[in-house]
Amino acid sequence: MNDIKILEKGEKFAHVSVGGLCGFEGKQFVKDASGATSCEISFGSLPKGAAVPFFHSHKENEENYVILSGSGLFQVDNDVFEVAEGSVIRVSTNCDRNLKCTSEKPMTYLCIQAKEGSLGSYTMTDAEITERESLL
Ligand code: ZN
Repeated sequence: MNDIKILEKGEKFAHVSVGGLCGFEGKQFVKDASGATSCEISFGSLPKGAAVPFFHSHKENEENYVILSGSGLFQVDNDVFEVAEGSVIRVSTNCDRNLKCTSEKPMTYLCIQAKEGSLGSYTMTDAEITERESLL
């Protein structure tokens, strides 16, 4: 399993990393290292033929899975569908979910969980353009 490293941390930000995703194995949660308060993010990887060893359901949190590499099958309750690199799968509360890698290369994915129905404003209804000198 890749360790998570805190690379930079300021009063208003945290930069953490699980390192390169090619060869990433297992599961790594990010929230404790980054200090996130709005969602939990985890990296996961499954080798060919492997599935998460259990189904699970969430009581309050919606999950959004982002497939970063590989491909496979995703099951929500009794629905099964194919997923591949670039797929984003939103899963509601109170249903069972699991995923299985069927590709030669491992299926690597992100899972972002946040409280269902909590997203109020977003993008330009939440953001504002500010005047700051670029140091980049
Ligand atoms: Zn979950």
